Amino acid sequence: MRLSSSRKTTEGAKPRRGGGLSIVDANPHRHAVQFYESAEFLVRSVSDYLHAGLKANEPGIIIATPEHRDGIAGELTARGVDLASIRARGMLTELDAHTTLQSFMLNGNPDGTRFTATIAPLFEAARRRPGAGRVRAYGEMVNLLWCEGNGGGALALESLWNRLSDTHEFSLLCGYGLERFDDAADAAIFSAICAEHTHVVPTERYVERDESSRLVEISLLQQRAQALESEVRRREQLEATLRTALSERERLLSAERSARSEAEQARRLAEQANRAKSEFLAIMSHELRTPLNAIAGYAELMEIGVQGPVSTGQREALERIQRSQRHLLGLINQVLNYARLETGNVRYALTDVPLDAMVRAAEALVFPQMQARGLRYSYAACDATLVLRADGEKLQQIMLNLLTNAAKFTDRGGEIKVETEVAGELARLHVRDTGVGIPPDKLSLIFDPFVQVDSQYTRTRDGVGLGLAISRDLARGMGGELSVASTLGVGSTFTLTLPRASSR
Ligand code: ADP
Repeated sequence: MRLSSSRKTTEGAKPRRGGGLSIVDANPHRHAVQFYESAEFLVRSVSDYLHAGLKANEPGIIIATPEHRDGIAGELTARGVDLASIRARGMLTELDAHTTLQSFMLNGNPDGTRFTATIAPLFEAARRRPGAGRVRAYGEMVNLLWCEGNGGGALALESLWNRLSDTHEFSLLCGYGLERFDDAADAAIFSAICAEHTHVVPTERYVERDESSRLVEISLLQQRAQALESEVRRREQLEATLRTALSERERLLSAERSARSEAEQARRLAEQANRAKSEFLAIMSHELRTPLNAIAGYAELMEIGVQGPVSTGQREALERIQRSQRHLLGLINQVLNYARLETGNVRYALTDVPLDAMVRAAEALVFPQMQARGLRYSYAACDATLVLRADGEKLQQIMLNLLTNAAKFTDRGGEIKVETEVAGELARLHVRDTGVGIPPDKLSLIFDPFVQVDSQYTRTRDGVGLGLAISRDLARGMGGELSVASTLGVGSTFTLTLPRASSR
């Protein structure tokens, strides 16, 4: 009769201690497995099993480690077995598990032929004892293989034992130390080992307890298993959430990437358009200047009487033509300047520029305009040694623009002040006026090209709204800055900051 069966049962197991699950009196036609936590328990359990057999004249075979063999011998003696006598009668055969195992191992696996050649004769000899019943064997070679990390070998050996039972009648108890099954990966081999046996006996924790505390242990175990399962589920959910978050992040990142490349594309297009605009302005301004020069030339010729005598009325008309021509030429020059700046076609010739001299040269040019408008002007002369690192011509252009604006946007009786200030490696030049001021929402706009705050004012005060845009670009081109502070109806202060020459 074949030992192995997919049906495992504990039926027939008689209570031992406190109603335990001992295999002592279990149906002997089985291939049972005993899991244990302590060697003492194993030794006791195996001794019970063999002792019951010996009492029924069933020969015993022990294939175990020396410690376990000694332990079993001691236990049997304690149960009143006369070991010397049963050994002498050949009723108890004891073999060393290590050497027996080695005798049939081949290339790391138990070899079927060698196994049969080693093990079968033991059973045959035992069966030949006078009056002998079915043989009871205890073996732990499978446990040795498992402890060496050879789970496959242990399973193969279990099969060989099962195959041997096709030709030989015996019952077999295998012992496995439970502590070696401590890993999730061991769970599969654990259940494969159980499947090789007809009877599975749990460790002392369950076998030696009375019924009620065993039930408590089992409930605790179930509860722990459930807690583990729900922990696993919780972790799976977390993992899924994390995965979703990661893919969302990936999606956002790629959206951001494409937004960035769109923005980059838009910026390139805007730059292209701006360059095209500036080139157009530069060409147009140039083309406009030629006929304007012709207008000026012919007006002058007429004025000096080249075409015949000029009447007073005609002279006034000619003067208006010339004024308008100059105004238009000024505007066109500004547009041209700005267009040049925009296309980056401006070269800066940086030299040491004495600040005081520069201010005096600029104020001289604006005096007539300030006088005509009845404005007071003051300049607190700065240290003559204060020198800027700048392009003199461009600095002059900025200064003139600031002074002209101050004069333009300050009503009669108002005041204009120029002040200088040293700030470390920089110098600051303030142009203050008590003029119309600039509304707060327009402060940041006035440096944009073609921006004029109040068309009502500007219409009466000339300009196209390019002066500040040009001035700021020039200031920045020289490593400086142009900023403004203003209170509507009170006045404005424009501040030009530039590097000092000594700071180099
Ligand atoms: P423009 O003087 O040719 O109009 P600007 O670029 O020099 O152009 O100035 C832009 C605008 O900033 C002016 O139209 C005016 O509205 C405002 N602005 C400039 N300077 C002053 C100032 N000192 N006081 C009040 N407003 C000013």
